[in-house]
Amino acid sequence: MADRYDLHTHSVRSDGTTTPAEIAALAAQIGLAGFALTDHDTTEGWAEARAAAHSHGIEFLPGMEITTKHDWRSTHLLAYGIDPAAQELIDALERVRSSRQNRAREMIRRLATDFDLDWQAVIERNVGRTVGRPHLADALVESGFYPDRSTAFAEVLHPNSAYYVPPYAIDTVDAIRLVRDAGGVAVLAHPAAGRMRRPVDFAALEEFVDSGLWGIELDHPENRADWLPPLAEYANERGLHVTGASDYHGAGKPNKLGECTSSEETWSLLRERVAITG
Ligand code: AMP
Ligand code: FE
Ligand code: FE
Ligand code: ZN
Repeated sequence: MADRYDLHTHSVRSDGTTTPAEIAALAAQIGLAGFALTDHDTTEGWAEARAAAHSHGIEFLPGMEITTKHDWRSTHLLAYGIDPAAQELIDALERVRSSRQNRAREMIRRLATDFDLDWQAVIERNVGRTVGRPHLADALVESGFYPDRSTAFAEVLHPNSAYYVPPYAIDTVDAIRLVRDAGGVAVLAHPAAGRMRRPVDFAALEEFVDSGLWGIELDHPENRADWLPPLAEYANERGLHVTGASDYHGAGKPNKLGECTSSEETWSLLRERVAITG
């Protein structure tokens, strides 16, 4: 089989449940030629993932998934190969992570009125990672309120819930510029995810492409097949690269490592463009 690459994975450095080294081991075991680690808003897992990938004889690309918004719509932006010394981007990410701590505290304040558990312990054990709703879900699951993350999201952590507080996010257009200035490549994550009311709209996409968006993640387990054809057509017209990736979160989501992947050609094109490779 031709070489395949998974371009979107999460570890315990954000909201995955496996370590960067465990992802590398699993990637090698299932026969992937390489993978990108794309924890939310952090570069923390890169060194561990890189070392483990190399020890297993597979390739590695450092990445991240940036929390952005555009026209009030939450938009996840994948960034690959950025220079970790790019101060403007690193400062922006630090703001995102620290405001996520405050946002988690506010959601906890609301949840604590109805769910009796040791929330202080939840705060303490999530220091040092990009904290988000999945960690609140894990606490609710652990205390027996819900069977799994997905149910906790569906019941109390969804955006229309009274417990929900939106995370601070930078504008997608600004984020694309920051990523490019940092020598990286920007790819729009899961643009047709079924949990959204609608897919990304073309006016927004046009702005993203004008700002230097490189690719679009059309092959993703959560994209709705019926929303994809016009996006594929647009990507083709505008010369946007199409990527595939699993969005693996360990046991935190049903997504299986390598269930959607990118070709060797896409992987090579990406690596040619970025400041930092494996
Ligand atoms: P946050 O950025 O803190 O608002 O949390 C968003 C994260 O929650 C996403 O990155 C997903 O990984 C995760 N997530 C969203 N919906 C679900 C779901 N239904 N089940 C499990 N995880 C989810
Ligand atoms: Fe996530
Ligand atoms: Fe995402
Ligand atoms: Zn993701």
